[in-house]
Amino acid sequence: MTNGPDAIVIGSGFGGAVVACRLAEAGYKVVVLERGRRWEAATYPRALGDAWLWDQAHPDRRNGWLDMRLLRRVAVAQGAGVGGGSLIYVNVSIEADPSVFERGWPAEITFDELKPHYATVGRMLGVATIPRQQWPARTALMAEAARKVGHGERFGTVEQAITFDPTWSPDEPGAHDASRSRRFTNAYGREQGTCVHLGECAIGCPVLAKNTLDLNYLARAESHGADVRPLTVVRSIGRTDDGYDVHVERIEGRDLVPSTERARIVVVAAGSLGSTELLLRSRDVARTLPGLPAGLGKGWSTNGDFLTLGWHGDREVFPTRGPTITSAIDFRDGSAGGHPFIIEDGGFPDLLAAYRRGPRERFSPWRRRRLLDRSVRGLVEDEGGSFEHVMPWFSQGRDAADGTMRLRPRWGFFGAPGLTIDWNVKQSRPMLEAIIAMHRRLAESIGGRPMLPATWRLASYLITPHPLGGCRMGTNPGEHVVDHTGEVFGHRGLYVADGAIVPTALGITPSRTIAALAERIASGIVSAGR
Ligand SMILES: Cc1cc2nc3c(=O)[nH]c(=O)nc-3n(C[C@H](O)[C@H](O)[C@H](O)COP(=O)(O)OP(=O)(O)OC[C@H]3O[C@@H](n4cnc5c(N)ncnc54)[C@H](O)[C@@H]3O)c2cc1C
Repeated sequence: MTNGPDAIVIGSGFGGAVVACRLAEAGYKVVVLERGRRWEAATYPRALGDAWLWDQAHPDRRNGWLDMRLLRRVAVAQGAGVGGGSLIYVNVSIEADPSVFERGWPAEITFDELKPHYATVGRMLGVATIPRQQWPARTALMAEAARKVGHGERFGTVEQAITFDPTWSPDEPGAHDASRSRRFTNAYGREQGTCVHLGECAIGCPVLAKNTLDLNYLARAESHGADVRPLTVVRSIGRTDDGYDVHVERIEGRDLVPSTERARIVVVAAGSLGSTELLLRSRDVARTLPGLPAGLGKGWSTNGDFLTLGWHGDREVFPTRGPTITSAIDFRDGSAGGHPFIIEDGGFPDLLAAYRRGPRERFSPWRRRRLLDRSVRGLVEDEGGSFEHVMPWFSQGRDAADGTMRLRPRWGFFGAPGLTIDWNVKQSRPMLEAIIAMHRRLAESIGGRPMLPATWRLASYLITPHPLGGCRMGTNPGEHVVDHTGEVFGHRGLYVADGAIVPTALGITPSRTIAALAERIASGIVSAGR
């Protein structure tokens, strides 16, 4: 191979951005193929008609911010764009409990082994905890509830990839005005601002206080020559004499233009669903990689995610204010009902306020109609709008990780094959019940009324933003897909480096662990001289 890249990285989230950065720094010629757009603060979706959704089957029609898969027993939310899940995530960056690695992982992967990589990721992402004087009402409420149920020592603020300004105070007049965000150039040469608690973490921070991957790892990769190509959907991978062909469709307006890229190293980092689907298609549909391991698709996990809403009629919670998550109550020692889990304060963006703040020129005349404008203003100026008494209690626990991803015809026996997940809540139900019981205790301890989501009450249906597994790391190709270095069994130079390789639930938000694993995989590729 002469003129082509040394390495192709598929996907630019927590796995892909890290590997692209480290390989480019080491002198590899790197191409990053990313299905989504390159987003900027001015283009984040805000108005009704903006590009909110991604459609994996028809990316030429919809190639927006959120890839929401409504599957039969579970729904999965994922980001799409340069920076992957870091664009949409709510910045919590924490290490897994050491006990996680004691079962279900290859012997080489221990907490001590990952520790230096966790530290590197923390530095690159600029993690920090929210300053005490900036605690939003939710954080104080969490601390109070933890104390009231006798677990005050388990409460703490969490590390987040956010740039805070320690001199900023929410109590000053106009504190939440974007002009109060302090502008600066970060260590990777990108413009950012400090957090002024706009509460829009999940829809793109308008002042760029989120330290997203496009502003650090990918910026560094590009400064070392990496070629990041947005709107490039990878459809299958095939083998060549000394490497791999990567078959892509580039989104050009309403057209999908096919082409093929070639490299001796391919790192699949399209996320738990994306990487597994791509490899399943390559093995079973395109049949270009027929020898992929039988373990492909197995061991999928929801990461034990669960959300309940607490109604606190006599308290002001303001869930739309401040970083979307700030703190946690830690039961990872299994002391609550025998199941390790963590509880976080949740928030959500005030879409109407965000709409009003969005760039005016993107609003069509009918959206600017006086009536709507007036009603939006009414809600925004109502100190947090109508949700002010709602407290989202959010958790992750260690589920059974017993789902299986498959390709099946979309309409039963007919239609093009689409990704499905066979997942049954049965094995994980006791863990979820333990979480629900603790949410209830916490909400009631501070005079709230806990409400279970209707999706759970009526259908035991779960929604997860933290999918894991499908290309699990391990030792047995019948059950796993990659070894401890991230290389696919029997496929020299083909790696998976993202949430798909995580073989068990982590029971915490997973991005820091995914990035730490990717750091280890990248250093393995470089030190092996691949
Ligand atoms: C609303 C929300 C909030 C979250 N909050 C947190 C949080 O606070 N902390 C935390 O740790 N985690 C959080 N997460 C989860 C976190 O975003 C994921 O765990 C993480 O992004 C997974 O990293 P990854 O590298 O596996 O995949 P991703 O980051 O999803 O990256 C995969 C990339 O591959 C691209 N891709 C997929 N298929 C293809 C293809 N065929 N061709 C080309 N490109 C492709 C995708 O567009 C994407 O950019 C949150 C998720 C959501 C949805």
